[in-house]
Amino acid sequence: MLPDIKSLTREELDRQFKAWNEPAFRVAQLLDWLYVSRATEWDAMSNLPKALRGKLRENFSLKILELVRQQGTPDTTRKFLWRLADGQFIESVLIPANAALYGEASDRHTLCISTQVGCAYGCKFCASGLNGLKRNLEPHEIIEQVLAVERWHEKEPRSTPPAEPGPEAPQPKSKPDAPRLINNLVIMGMGEPLANYENLIQALKILNAPWGGGIGARKITISTSGLAPQIRRLAHEPFQFRLAISLHGATDAVRDRIMPVNKKYPLRELAAACDDYQKLKGRMITLEYILIAGVNDALAQTYPLAALAKRFYAKVNLIPYNPVEGLPWQRPSEEVCAGFLAALEKQDVTATLRQEKGRDIDAACGQLRLKTEQELEAQLKTEAAE
Ligand code: SAH
Ligand code: SF4
Repeated sequence: MLPDIKSLTREELDRQFKAWNEPAFRVAQLLDWLYVSRATEWDAMSNLPKALRGKLRENFSLKILELVRQQGTPDTTRKFLWRLADGQFIESVLIPANAALYGEASDRHTLCISTQVGCAYGCKFCASGLNGLKRNLEPHEIIEQVLAVERWHEKEPRSTPPAEPGPEAPQPKSKPDAPRLINNLVIMGMGEPLANYENLIQALKILNAPWGGGIGARKITISTSGLAPQIRRLAHEPFQFRLAISLHGATDAVRDRIMPVNKKYPLRELAAACDDYQKLKGRMITLEYILIAGVNDALAQTYPLAALAKRFYAKVNLIPYNPVEGLPWQRPSEEVCAGFLAALEKQDVTATLRQEKGRDIDAACGQLRLKTEQELEAQLKTEAAE
């Protein structure tokens, strides 16, 4: 199988072109086709000599995601179901302009992307892990989610205004008809991103680079269920990525009950890794806390939670649980959620509680997943049979 061209960094392409005795400016032209024009075929790259296009075709694949389904309206989140080259399905979710959940308030368009097909971590409340892990995504499959949504947007009637580039998101000399839609990325789709570490970092390098996706590092949030060694490793990478810890419990007793990963990396170890991250990166940690009735919503949990938040200078995102069919968990009442928030605020913790508008976002970002996939898969099979 050929490596995919979009899994390579500029330096790697430079080396390859040098080995081929191609002038350096050809790399810039290629990158422009890949990340500004978002070309889907070699033959579209009209300013590259035919012989070079031939060499590229012989040595690299140029795979794109196939859009199977798109749901949502301009005012809500839009969910995209993609088919990968090997027939597997993944989802990405586009979150509209007004919902600045991560990063700065000027955020316009956030895309939530997947990093694996399925997930091996089996959190008890999550639909992604229900069938285990199928495979890791390749760097180009992670990157393509951004490009494919932007391609889709170009073809859409202009219901969604293009995002304004932030100070950290240098806009490559974009064609007027190819506005950059996504300036904020959350790695919260299907899969545990830090369990696909190498591919994730390679993809984020490319999405972050001015010659690639042009998305500022501070506008990229990686969410993890708590893989302590990888958090440490990430702390030593030369990028200012934001880190969201899916805490969901501030004591081992609570985390053990719902997150098997806590047996491997108990809170003490996770917290020590977060200390490292905080010390090396500053105030870049968010604690995610889904509120599940009778599991983690007792006010007593707010004390250890507040202590952790203060320790990492972290903000707390409270998210009422989104029930998953077939799983026994429920969200607490609105009063309980509000009371939990108030208790945190009383302890001087910066916290937010996703309001009703967020329900769709939760459904999207936190809970993409299998169920939709299986339903759609079944539906498609029926359609194909008809
Ligand atoms: N594996 C990573 C990233 C993907 S999950 C992680 O666990 O952080 C993204 C977020 O969605 C996590 O915080 C996860 O706990 C949350 N989530 C999963 N199922 C959910 C549900 N049914 N309702 C609300 N949030 C959910
Ligand atoms: Fe995997 Fe994250 Fe779901 Fe846990 S919450 S099963 S780590 S995707």
